[in-house]
Amino acid sequence: MAIGELISSLSSNPYFGAGFGLFGVGASAAILRKGLQGAVVLFRRHMMITLEVPCRDKSYQWLLKWITIKGARKTQHLSVETTFLQNDNGKIRTTYDFIPSIGKHLFQYKRNWIQVERTREQQTLDLHMGVPWESVTLTAFGNNKQIYFDILEEARQLALQATEGKTLMYTAMGSEWRPFGHPRRRRPASSVVLDEGISSRIIADCKDFIGNSLWYTQRGIPYRRGYLLYGPPGCGKSSFITALAGELEYGICLLNLSERGLTDDRLNHLMNVAPEQTIILLEDIDAAFISREATLQQKSAYDGLNRITFSGLLNCLDGVASTEARIVFMTTNYLDRLDPALIRPGRIDLKEYIGYCTQHQLEQMFKKFFGEQEVAKSTEFAQRIVATGRTVSPAQIQGFFMRHKSSPPQLVVDSCHSIWENDEK
Ligand code: ADP
Repeated sequence: MAIGELISSLSSNPYFGAGFGLFGVGASAAILRKGLQGAVVLFRRHMMITLEVPCRDKSYQWLLKWITIKGARKTQHLSVETTFLQNDNGKIRTTYDFIPSIGKHLFQYKRNWIQVERTREQQTLDLHMGVPWESVTLTAFGNNKQIYFDILEEARQLALQATEGKTLMYTAMGSEWRPFGHPRRRRPASSVVLDEGISSRIIADCKDFIGNSLWYTQRGIPYRRGYLLYGPPGCGKSSFITALAGELEYGICLLNLSERGLTDDRLNHLMNVAPEQTIILLEDIDAAFISREATLQQKSAYDGLNRITFSGLLNCLDGVASTEARIVFMTTNYLDRLDPALIRPGRIDLKEYIGYCTQHQLEQMFKKFFGEQEVAKSTEFAQRIVATGRTVSPAQIQGFFMRHKSSPPQLVVDSCHSIWENDEK
């Protein structure tokens, strides 16, 4: 049979004809769908720009805030971030920050429509933080990347504004530093009364160090400086470091050396990745190793594991290298408990004793509280206390003044013996 005949007999067969028709419809639908998909892909590739910001990126939190404040105000789908804010007087206020919830949001920026998609991976964890992996993707029409630079810059400026005049505190989470608590209002250096010259000496030393990067690089000396403040509790070591950070416009990275899980490697890593313009603060540096001796005595199988070692700490202090000025502050109540190896220059370049109140400090604190005009009474107050021969910390003086904040200055002078009352109870 000729081929022509075969085709004509098949097409005259109604069953075969219908099948062929259906096949034709199905095939063209599939082609159309493929074509459409291709067109969408092409459209997205050439006519739209997207920006993905993963949660590990520095700008992630800024961007979320910015989106909420600037664009997605009208969105009805928000998630909440609750924070507690403690005032200087101890009063706690709760604040609620709304950020765009998981999902898609649309907003307008400089006459461009932008789609924001915040996604959360259920299966993937950010291993450092132990939280679900999140990202924000911005999609806009056109191919002008500038719009994203503008957005990120605006978000950064907004975040900076929020922390202007404030001191940022960071704490170590996993292997990275995270801001912790709300930024605190900068504490003026003058609010911490130390003995004559100490405060200005440390501030001048820090400023000199920060301003002299060339001196260090030209001589191949690591650009870091270690400070140790030692002395009894309640004399202003921590308060002074906070005030100093404010003065230098630096943040503070707080590290607790006796924390479990802080190994030598982690400490080393953390010291090297501390955010720029921060002071690394190691408080009660003696405690980490005292407790180590105690744990060794207990001879428990688990104690002493996952802790830093003394040589590990020394290596970390020696190894902190950075092109940025790296300032490490350490505090201790007991200088004599520190190993001489820790205090040698290069690890600790400047150490200062922050001690009990001197006559000068007592006078200054009195005047700060009851007015600069009270010169004679401040001198009398200071002399009477010094004459007792007893030690008193600025924290005790502060407590005593608080109890007498509405008393006339002469009564405060006359009742100065009651400073120690609370201690004796
Ligand atoms: P330290 O770190 O030496 O133990 P803190 O800085 O924690 O002492 O001080 C405890 C409290 O006492 C703080 O509330 C602080 O305001 C007050 N205080 C301590 N020292 C001073 C000081 N020299 N001048 C003003 N206030 C002080």
